Amino acid sequence: MKFDLLSLFPNYFQGPLSQSMIARAIKNGHLEINCVDIRDYCQDKHKKADDRPYGGGPGMVMMAEPISKAVRDKKTKKSRVVYLSPQGKPLDQKLAKELSKEEHLILLCGHYEGVDERVIESEVDLEVSIGDYVLTNGCLAACVLIDVVARFVPGVLGHDQSSANDSFENKRLDCPHYTRPQSFEGKEVPEVLLSGHHEKIEEWRQKVAFLQTQQKRPDLIKY
Ligand code: SAM
Repeated sequence: MKFDLLSLFPNYFQGPLSQSMIARAIKNGHLEINCVDIRDYCQDKHKKADDRPYGGGPGMVMMAEPISKAVRDKKTKKSRVVYLSPQGKPLDQKLAKELSKEEHLILLCGHYEGVDERVIESEVDLEVSIGDYVLTNGCLAACVLIDVVARFVPGVLGHDQSSANDSFENKRLDCPHYTRPQSFEGKEVPEVLLSGHHEKIEEWRQKVAFLQTQQKRPDLIKY
């Protein structure tokens, strides 16, 4: 799966994309991620990509022209253009799964007051929000989206790290997990997990996952 990240801060992504599973997925060829500097599509010599808002008010607005040029340069028939925005569709597992089926996502990261509305109308297929709060820019939101979507791209998670039992799958939170040592500060690992009895372990995991969901996120459970 391919991502083109359009922003004013292409270096922003160096940390998140060079670590852990995402870095490995890039190395193994499961993901291709390109960071595109919108300023490369500015016409004037000062690379001006933003201007004052019509009607007055604080802040700056990202100009339509460099953005539309960048999008059109990267777009193919198989691309879907996503603008990260607090006004977008809330990102959840369902939307992430849907997006993971795309071959090519172009992620537009806004900054300042956001982007000129006309470029959203003409170039953007979908607006996506990562939560009901306002970030200073869309780069962090794009990193979150890539991370969540990548988990559903075949091959990104190893065999032993299937997402099937993760929280929010089957409208449940995940069950608790334990590792060595068996006893930690007087707290023991639940007996059943040491039994080697796979059916009983599975039964216990399902039961505890349900109880945890009931306690922590009762809204997820549909009776
Ligand atoms: N004035 C805008 C509003 O209130 O709708 C907010 C602009 S915000 C300061 C700058 C940029 O951060 C946005 O253009 C968007 O790309 C990104 N952003 C902020 N909050 C976000 C969120 N919750 N989800 C996704 N992107 C967000």
